[in-house]
Amino acid sequence: MGDTVLKCDYLVVGSGAVGMAFVDTLLSETDATIIMVDRYAAPGGHWNVAYPFVTLHQPSQFYGVSSKELSSGRKDKTGLNAGLYDLASGAQVKAYFDDVMRHTFLPSGRVQYFPMCDYQGDGVFTQILSGKTHTVEFKKTVDATHLKTSVPSTHTPNFEIEDGVRFMPLNDLPKLKSAPDGYVIIGGGKTGIDACLWLLESGADPDDMTWIVSRDAWLLNRANTQPSMEFFENTMGAQAGQFESIANATSFDDMYDRLEACGYFLRLDTGVRPTMFHGATISTAELEELRKVKNIVRMGRVSRVGKTEIILAGGTVPTTPEVVHIDCSAGAIANVQIKPVFDGNTITPQTVRSYQPVFSAAFIAHIEAAYESEAEKNKLCAVVPLPNSTQDYLHMTAAMMMNQFHWGQDKSIRAWLLSNRLDGFSDMIARLDKNDKKRMAVMGRLRDNAFPAMAKLQQFISELS
Ligand SMILES: Cc1cc2nc3c(=O)[nH]c(=O)nc-3n(C[C@H](O)[C@H](O)[C@H](O)COP(=O)(O)OP(=O)(O)OC[C@H]3O[C@@H](n4cnc5c(N)ncnc54)[C@H](O)[C@@H]3O)c2cc1C
Repeated sequence: MGDTVLKCDYLVVGSGAVGMAFVDTLLSETDATIIMVDRYAAPGGHWNVAYPFVTLHQPSQFYGVSSKELSSGRKDKTGLNAGLYDLASGAQVKAYFDDVMRHTFLPSGRVQYFPMCDYQGDGVFTQILSGKTHTVEFKKTVDATHLKTSVPSTHTPNFEIEDGVRFMPLNDLPKLKSAPDGYVIIGGGKTGIDACLWLLESGADPDDMTWIVSRDAWLLNRANTQPSMEFFENTMGAQAGQFESIANATSFDDMYDRLEACGYFLRLDTGVRPTMFHGATISTAELEELRKVKNIVRMGRVSRVGKTEIILAGGTVPTTPEVVHIDCSAGAIANVQIKPVFDGNTITPQTVRSYQPVFSAAFIAHIEAAYESEAEKNKLCAVVPLPNSTQDYLHMTAAMMMNQFHWGQDKSIRAWLLSNRLDGFSDMIARLDKNDKKRMAVMGRLRDNAFPAMAKLQQFISELS
């Protein structure tokens, strides 16, 4: 096979949301040339294979790339997100990234895009359809594949499935032509939630649904993620409530009780103490709807789905060959390993602010463009670990607070945050009327509790380690 040699400043592997957000900022803030390589036929990463009824979990205002708005700026008037800002559908997200590639990246003359190509490492990639190999001479490489986002349509379930069982990823639900004997939803995370909500919205009887929830999760209230002044009390109030709850907590469990009491966290069943925290975001209307599903199986993980029974760690539940079993067991973020963001000529974008992988990618590109020393860059881009268990919330919040503290000390970073659409929240604080006593009081609670909360997080981390 022929081998072509290509040259660029940055070789970016992965044109998912993270790779796209990184490149967009690099294009705006440097003169660099860039080569992007991806296995998929189109940019957007996992959005190419997402289920047809997927939407963002958080408002579109702070998703995508810095240079192009994704939100319609509207609030939903109907449905379970009514009153809150729009959530782009999967189709919209995919079309958006396609538009960014065609109308911003490629016309810049500085980006070369190689879809349908498999990166082999060391600057070598292969075109999937021809087997042709290219070698890239680059100054730096960007690994925008690190999060290893896993979705039901492409992952392999980690349990056995007997031949003859009706089993499908939630992607195939809209293909159903008649009512099965029942629905078993396997997975208690955000994908499982989406499957339950779609079934209910589409007319399935909640009594026909069995939901296998191996671990209950603490959930974030979407009303607290709205980036506009109208939601100041929710958004900033929730942050203040968070710091207050942590600062005043007398124990780890007490901290969660307080976080729930102040409205920061929600849970499906107030009688069940969650052990999982993935940062899934939900509206209170969605939560009410989900509570219509009464048959929730809490027996740990599934090990086998048979034609007549499902075997779980803590017992079995009956099923039949006519029941549809819906796979929602892919854990969206499969890779929680941390590495330095800047390491020689390799950049590995990871989250530097909780729940915001794309903001993080844009921020890291800005730091790459604006700072020289690797030590300083890594200090400003300390990785905020992705949470899985309830204890991980401690580490995540402590790291996020430390980054915010460092960024707050740097005038140029403050200005960048203020002007960046992916940031979402700095602008809300900057536009605050200093004579507005009520809102200034919220900011006061935030400020007064920040250091005590940080100290308490460190205390709990050392007690629980
Ligand atoms: C259903 C769902 C909803 C979500 N909603 C939100 C939300 O509302 N807000 C939010 O902030 N986050 C959300 N997330 C989190 C989401 O993971 C990130 O927003 C983001 O899309 C992840 O992008 P990524 O680029 O890291 O990963 P991916 O989308 O997986 O992209 C990685 C890319 O790398 C390519 N690749 C990997 N290895 C190679 C190789 N060897 N050669 C070539 N190409 C390769 C893949 O083909 C892929 O295109 C959601 C996640 C899911 C699953």
